[in-house]
Amino acid sequence: MAGIATATATAMTHAPVAGYDLERVREDFPILAQRIHGKPLVYLDNAATTQKPRVVLDALASFYATSYANVGRGVHTLTSRATEAYERARATVQRFLGAPHPEEIVFVRGATEAINLVAQSWGRHHVGPGDEILITELEHHSNILPWQMLCAERGARLRVAPVNDRGEVELEGLTALLTERTRLVAVAHVSNALGTILPVREIAEKAHAAGALLLVDGAQAAPHLEVDVQELGCDFYAFSGHKVYGPSGIGALWGRRELLDAMPPWQGGGGMVMRVTFAKTTYQPPPHRFEAGTPFIEGAVALAAALDYVNLLGRPTIAAWEDELLTLLTERLAEIPEVRLFGTARHKAAVVSFTLDGVHPHDIGTILDREGIAVRAGHHCAQPIMDRFGVPATTRASFGLYNAPEDVEALVAGLRRVREMFLG
Ligand code: PLP
Repeated sequence: MAGIATATATAMTHAPVAGYDLERVREDFPILAQRIHGKPLVYLDNAATTQKPRVVLDALASFYATSYANVGRGVHTLTSRATEAYERARATVQRFLGAPHPEEIVFVRGATEAINLVAQSWGRHHVGPGDEILITELEHHSNILPWQMLCAERGARLRVAPVNDRGEVELEGLTALLTERTRLVAVAHVSNALGTILPVREIAEKAHAAGALLLVDGAQAAPHLEVDVQELGCDFYAFSGHKVYGPSGIGALWGRRELLDAMPPWQGGGGMVMRVTFAKTTYQPPPHRFEAGTPFIEGAVALAAALDYVNLLGRPTIAAWEDELLTLLTERLAEIPEVRLFGTARHKAAVVSFTLDGVHPHDIGTILDREGIAVRAGHHCAQPIMDRFGVPATTRASFGLYNAPEDVEALVAGLRRVREMFLG
């Protein structure tokens, strides 16, 4: 795979991002060197999960080889070493999110678990009959179902802000649904199905003015955007490690300290208690109150390595590079008349969802795979937004920091072949 310096003529019409050494970046990801069905791997399924740089693989191996033990419960050297590494990882996540305090970072399995934690711990105590939770039409199922379940349990009402034909959530539409019964607004920072970037800061202001809290599902934003929870003004922020070049099974919830302090535990087990008797149990303060049982210690350590890696490249640089690829692919797809794009928001991250008239997305995905190209075909765990646009599924290409203009060209060539096979 050639780097920026030898990019194709088409790609060169887009100015390379200053200081971004794509060739070196790609060398950091061993998996990218392989061939699939005899073709170079073109990995365009980054919104589902990202590949891992060598520093993450090394962090896992080195932690196991030198520092592995359970955390927080012992006096021996290895347990101290592991605990220090685990808590250092928490501080890395804190800095990554611009959070004021490390105690505000709760390690969880991922965005899904983070949202469920808030729904079950905060939600069960603050949402009652007649109250409302406000979400949007473009949410991932992970930011729908926990609220649907909570509303069913508590006799509350789930309200849904619409998106326009570009796939944007209009502030006026959302604001119109805020009432004095709204307890919480829960929105994606970036839509996984459409790529739309939501105006989170403005939504926070509106939610707070109505007396509601704001939870942001940052699963798709963390890999692409600079996130500063204080600047965004939200109350909870959730993300998954595996979408930001770290391991799967680890992620984080950030919550304002005063909110976490007042929240009861949601799971019981070891590591989260001060004192247990059969008569009464007292709990640790956050974040440990919310981390019952042995955590994914090495996952947290490797996640920190991933976040350091992303920071080293620089999130604004990564975003600028991915924007180049987004523009290039959007332009190239416009040349294929049967392609219909879903999600043409003015503020958009590196996700391109489309259909090719007359061809099922699963057929597209399968044929592209024969060409070594990995894309996602389906409803992207966002069925309501598929319904909104009147399609059961789309094909989705999503970029990561290692994608190249050649990946775009390979995808477009693959789609032209699909078109020829099905449409003649
Ligand atoms: N929210 C969004 C916007 C997502 O894209 C995803 C995963 O695709 C999730 C939540 C759930 O993430 P996880 O499965 O890592 O918990």
